[in-house]
Amino acid sequence: MSVKVAINGYGTIGKRIADAVASQDDMEVIGVTKTRPTYEAKMAILRGYPFYAASEESVGRFKDKGIEVQGTLDDLLEQADIVVDGTPKKMGYKETYEKAGVKAIWQGGEKHELTGLSFNAQANYDEALGADYVRVVSCNTTGLIRTLYPLHKEFGVKFVMAVMIRRGADPWDTKRGPINAVEPVLKVPSHHGPDVQTVMPYLNIQTTAVKVPTTIMHLHSLMVRLKREVSTDDVLNVWEDSPRILFVEGEEGIKSTAQIMEMAKDMCRNRTDLYEIAVWRDGTHVVGDSLYYYQAIHQESDVVPENVDAIRAMMEIEKDNMKSMKKTDLALGIEC
Ligand code: NAD
Repeated sequence: MSVKVAINGYGTIGKRIADAVASQDDMEVIGVTKTRPTYEAKMAILRGYPFYAASEESVGRFKDKGIEVQGTLDDLLEQADIVVDGTPKKMGYKETYEKAGVKAIWQGGEKHELTGLSFNAQANYDEALGADYVRVVSCNTTGLIRTLYPLHKEFGVKFVMAVMIRRGADPWDTKRGPINAVEPVLKVPSHHGPDVQTVMPYLNIQTTAVKVPTTIMHLHSLMVRLKREVSTDDVLNVWEDSPRILFVEGEEGIKSTAQIMEMAKDMCRNRTDLYEIAVWRDGTHVVGDSLYYYQAIHQESDVVPENVDAIRAMMEIEKDNMKSMKKTDLALGIEC
């Protein structure tokens, strides 16, 4: 069976999910939508995706620019088994998807309450089996869960304190900032801790966040109290065996997010994306009863494999999360 996937909102996340879906042998992209005739619309067509206008009103905009559309979102949804919503947050498409009778996946900009089911492939794949509506949690939340869930499973976690050092904007985005300031989130916890708890409700976590003038990655600084005594090597071994974590080392010249993304370019993946969470091996230390580590998140791509796994779970074409993740990762060129 090839699952028919529609992508509503072909932007930063939507275009990456389209490519990831197209790379799998058990699902296909039957169409993508946009509201405006930007360069991304032309690129979608160049990549061979059937192109649709997001609404009746936007059809004319595309026609005026000589961009051919196959129809509107409603036409696309008629043929789809599932739609991945890559539109900006709070666009309010739930009723449209319900009316069309298609399953739907939203992204981390939405609130948990929209679907009542927030997703991470490692932590709660089973909950999404056969589900109609799922939210894949944000890039930061995905990053936190990727390293914390294996620690919880293997050692038990008493308490987590995580500081999120967040990129000011995506690299293409010239409208957001700051460009010359450091901006703390004054509310504690920042939204990240409660968001992790939508997937791991049992985790005792506090988070704070600071926005900084960089566009390429987020960085997290974490302190974790584990339920039993462990060594640094014990922790590294657990992560070594966990999916979608990539070790980097200061000793090998990776001292910042800049070198991580340079390495990602050298890996020659689609769009030079880094789907894994980069953890500094030589920045990981157990001191007394606490574990300290740093990790970096490629915000535009870490959620992409999770969307592919969410499709498999919701369509019940693979019941085993590890098998789904392995299949996704092989197709995306992530080392398994
Ligand atoms: P984006 O602005 O890059 O892309 C959104 C796309 O949706 C654009 O192509 C736009 O043309 C289209 N669009 C706008 N209004 C629309 C409408 N009414 N109907 C259909 N399409 C419409 O946004 P993004 O960064 O890809 O964010 C999408 C979602 O992914 C958000 O929930 C966001 O929080 C989440 N997310 C973003 C990142 C990131 O780093 N960019 C990371 C993880 C999750």
